[in-house]
Amino acid sequence: MNSAADTIAAVASAPGAGGVGVLRVSGPHAGAIARAFLGRAPTPRHAHYAAFRDRDRALIDRGLLLWFPAPHSYTGEDVLELQAHGSPVVLRLLLACCLELGARHARPGEFSERAFLNGKLDLAQAEAVADLIASGSEAAARAAQRSLDGVFSARVHALTEAVIGLRVWIEAAIDFPEEEIDFLAAPQLATDLAAIRADLADLLAAARRGVRLADGLHVVIVGRPNVGKSSLLNALAASERAIVTDIAGTTRDVLREAIDLDGIALTLVDTAGLREAGDAVEAEGIRRARAELERADLALLVSDDAHADADLALLAGLPPGAAQLVVHNKIDLAGATPHAQTLDGRTHLWLSARSGAGLDLLVAELQRHAGTAEAGEGAFTARARHVAALERARDHLAAADDALTVQRAGELAAEELRQVQHALGEITGEFTPDDLLGAIFSSFCIGK
Ligand code: GDP
Repeated sequence: MNSAADTIAAVASAPGAGGVGVLRVSGPHAGAIARAFLGRAPTPRHAHYAAFRDRDRALIDRGLLLWFPAPHSYTGEDVLELQAHGSPVVLRLLLACCLELGARHARPGEFSERAFLNGKLDLAQAEAVADLIASGSEAAARAAQRSLDGVFSARVHALTEAVIGLRVWIEAAIDFPEEEIDFLAAPQLATDLAAIRADLADLLAAARRGVRLADGLHVVIVGRPNVGKSSLLNALAASERAIVTDIAGTTRDVLREAIDLDGIALTLVDTAGLREAGDAVEAEGIRRARAELERADLALLVSDDAHADADLALLAGLPPGAAQLVVHNKIDLAGATPHAQTLDGRTHLWLSARSGAGLDLLVAELQRHAGTAEAGEGAFTARARHVAALERARDHLAAADDALTVQRAGELAAEELRQVQHALGEITGEFTPDDLLGAIFSSFCIGK
């Protein structure tokens, strides 16, 4: 699929009038293209001011030419970067020149894919490039930058090293059958295995937070009619941090509004239909409301504090899975003060959507769930695929533990540990099938 022998070119940035447009070229012809534009050999990592001319020597634009010879470049290949005015026409003309000089159009993500294939980035880092570009909040951008820096990968590598250490020990034991049982019963082995399991559990929790950071938290607001769901969403939307978006194509009976609060996506679902289905229309409403809730990370149940019992009965009808947060609204009517309390393992908040009292408690709670509040030092972005791989690693590790401590079956434990290593290797791309690589990189933008 990827031949390092060809040269790719793409517009990496075209911000329109006023900004700088960037054209990037990578591959063996990049040097010849650079010389054609500059009229001589470029100096590595030096900004040349150049007149960019077409084949007929007509001036297209003047700008900067930068030359990064292999292997000291983003892709690890010879890379040429042209910075011109951010006009789509200028950039198209420059790109056409590069194509005439032997380059071809780059596919989406092909620069990052080459960086991965040349060992410049591992797969988790390459994915962080796309996550950084797509980040919807400051916290997400900073966390993506940490993944790109290799914070996540380093933790995966440390675990892999520890697993390899265990495998070496166990495989040595298998080679000496008369002593195998003693080897496998060594307390150090059990201690090491327990430490690895604890580290993996930590990393899995951090990766789950990382997915929420990258994707935002999907919160679905549910509750009976007139409890104040819309008012609450509007109150949140009035915050300076909120971006209000209309979701097209959604029906009025289920999805009414959505806002993005600091990278947290909130969707209002009218769950009148969560009650028993009366007719076909209501059955459809139930189906959609449930589908929304099943995709949600957090269900925000709104109740009118004066009638909380009836509202709380709805809790039983919510699909399991998503975390639940209960809001007791309209406390202004009883003159109560805003507060938070944990009841039956759920956080309950007392507030007023109308007066705004207690909204800060809700925002803080949403941020806590989204991981943005705890996105301090060390937080990194991750993807669902990473979480799935870590879950597989966790399960094989549990099986290895059982094989060792209960069954004292060295061969079995070694095989389980091999699977752990394989699952971890999928995250960084050591064991990743080509079709998966294709799917990952094709979701990138062109020029990245
Ligand atoms: P929804 O059907 O759950 O979306 O409820 P709405 O947001 O449309 O609110 C229903 C009614 O309750 C409206 O008249 C709101 O003005 C009122 N309401 C909403 N929140 C509050 C609140 O905190 N205090 C008071 N007093 N009234 C509220």
